[in-house]
Amino acid sequence: MKIGALKETFDGEARVAITPSSAAHLKKLGYDPYVESGAGARAGFSDAAYQAAGVTVVPGAADLIRDTDIVVKVRPPSEAEIAQMRRGQTVISYFYPSQNSELLEAAREQGVTAIAMDMVPRISRAQKMDALSSMANIAGYRAVIEAANNFGRFFTGQVTAAGKVPPAKVLIVGAGVAGLAAIGAATSLGAQVYAFDVRPEVAEQIESMGAEFVYLDFAEAQTDGATTGGYAAPSSPEFREAQLKKFRELAPEMDIVITTALIPGRDAPILWTADMVESMKTGSVIVDLAAERGGNCELTVPDERFVTDNGVVIIGYTDFPSRMGAQASELYGNNIRHMMTDLTPGKDGQVVQNMEDDVIRGSTVTFDGDVTWPPPPPKVA
Ligand code: NAD
Repeated sequence: MKIGALKETFDGEARVAITPSSAAHLKKLGYDPYVESGAGARAGFSDAAYQAAGVTVVPGAADLIRDTDIVVKVRPPSEAEIAQMRRGQTVISYFYPSQNSELLEAAREQGVTAIAMDMVPRISRAQKMDALSSMANIAGYRAVIEAANNFGRFFTGQVTAAGKVPPAKVLIVGAGVAGLAAIGAATSLGAQVYAFDVRPEVAEQIESMGAEFVYLDFAEAQTDGATTGGYAAPSSPEFREAQLKKFRELAPEMDIVITTALIPGRDAPILWTADMVESMKTGSVIVDLAAERGGNCELTVPDERFVTDNGVVIIGYTDFPSRMGAQASELYGNNIRHMMTDLTPGKDGQVVQNMEDDVIRGSTVTFDGDVTWPPPPPKVA
């Protein structure tokens, strides 16, 4: 079968779903890899680099859709792209099915099999194709780089002939995949890092990375127990009050605040309020990785960077992985080829849509003329 990557059309998107190196793996699985001309340009992969890796480069999106059996993308396909696909063709990309019911319906009507990379079950076996994690890892790292670039001082402490410089104090709110990556990047730059999460089980991970876990003055345990399957659930009002009280104490001391707190299926909780921003020092930086879901900081403007009246920089970019297009494409391309490995048990370039397989079932959102989302819960963890 032929598998091809479309050029992303979303404004500013630099990622591509097949790289020259992932194409080599796809060939080993028996597939003929294709890309649309220019698809990798913004990630640093020229048409010539693809051709050198044995990839067929076709001039336009319509050619790619017509000539391939499996179309791969990063951003969800447009309805216009779906309309060009044929019955039995497969599209693999982010899909956000809960927010894209019309797109889901369009794919169903067209008889297209849609595999959503954002729906890969978060079980151990599927980690290699977990694009949410690979992209969150990049976002966490990049958040620290953006913060450092906007902070007019060192992250590391120094004592030199020119004077003594204290280390920057960095607070990471939310220690999931992105938060842990941010902790790693900030500690490696020499900052003094503090981190908080509602899931107490991450305290050990935070501390093993050289950061300090922020404990609350809360009568109960560190958490109100509100977690579901390893994810956070909304906190009780009392817990939230204790959390905000602690953050109010920390705000005047922190140079950098990176927020990553999310609760599946909901808007991001507001955890860094306007009065906390007001109490921060001039030159401090907030990077809000939850901006796409409304933001953890009350003042965040999605997709914007601005400076408050008291001189605090607030960054609400929503395209952190795309800001590292080469790295993000490399990791996403790997996620895709691992998905293809599971879809190709015979390594013969033929997709087997095994709906008994938890990972394939969980990720498939339309199949055989049906909407197959939401899936039943996975049988194994
Ligand atoms: P996420 O992006 O949904 O949330 C980010 C973090 O915000 C989480 O750690 C969450 O606990 C935290 N949070 C929510 N509300 C908060 C609040 N009020 N204050 C502070 N922090 C708050 O999470 P994620 O990074 O996608 O991962 C979350 C969980 O999923 C983890 O347990 C992780 O180990 C697990 N996971 C498993 C797999 C796998 O097995 N394949 C892959 C990825 C993640």
